[in-house]
Amino acid sequence: MPISVKSILDSKGRAVVTVSADTTLMEAAAILAENRIGALVIGAVGGEVSGIFTERDVVKAVAKYGRQCLDQAVGDIMSFNIVRCSENSTVDEVMEMMTQRRFRHVPVEDDGKLSGIISIGDVVKAHIREIELEAEQIKAYIAG
Ligand code: AMP
Repeated sequence: MPISVKSILDSKGRAVVTVSADTTLMEAAAILAENRIGALVIGAVGGEVSGIFTERDVVKAVAKYGRQCLDQAVGDIMSFNIVRCSENSTVDEVMEMMTQRRFRHVPVEDDGKLSGIISIGDVVKAHIREIELEAEQIKAYIAG
């Protein structure tokens, strides 16, 4: 049975650290560090996701604009065309999205509303669990 995004969220929780588009890069960096996370979701009215801002965006902005970019708003830098998944997506599907598009975070939306976020760490953990379960099933089959 493939592991679903829903089962990952059921065990890790559905909290997502969200900020408004006018948060500065300096504030965003502090929020990322305080929460020990790699991505912030930029919210919009009605609970929809309007953007994503990750630690990689801080690095890219500093390299491109220099330190003065730290006073800029995340809304100027964030990625807009968000690749999302649903609670019914499988771990394999999310892993494929991350590999193809080269990012490490995928917001989860249910009925157009943010319901969680999946990181590459969550995907790797679930994938290892999937392999372990498969190995247990094969062992039980051989033994039985
Ligand atoms: P990451 O590897 O997640 O730190 O992100 C690498 C780049 O992709 C950054 O510019 C992010 O803003 C962007 N990004 C991250 N996640 C997504 C996503 N789900 N959809 C679109 N862009 C994203």
